[in-house]
Amino acid sequence: MRVNVAGWSNSREVRVEGGKVQFEVGMDHNHCSTCASRVRHVEHALVQKDIPHRFFGGGGSALFVELDGPPQGVDLRDHLGRALNVAVR
Ligand SMILES: [Zn+2]
Repeated sequence: MRVNVAGWSNSREVRVEGGKVQFEVGMDHNHCSTCASRVRHVEHALVQKDIPHRFFGGGGSALFVELDGPPQGVDLRDHLGRALNVAVR
């Protein structure tokens, strides 16, 4: 599915796979200063909250970050928003 992030110009792809959620951050940090700042923002939020995650992709295609899916009863958008310090709609 696609989601919108407040203040980010393009929608992002979100996939749920095997209890994990994968969020399209942007292109990789080498693409442009905007992508680099998105990657830094997401990484900082996850590290600060000590949330296990991994980045994959990039290198000419979209860079995704994967983390655990929401606990039961928690909305996927809220879960991502809290984990990544963004407002997901
Ligand atoms: Zn870019």
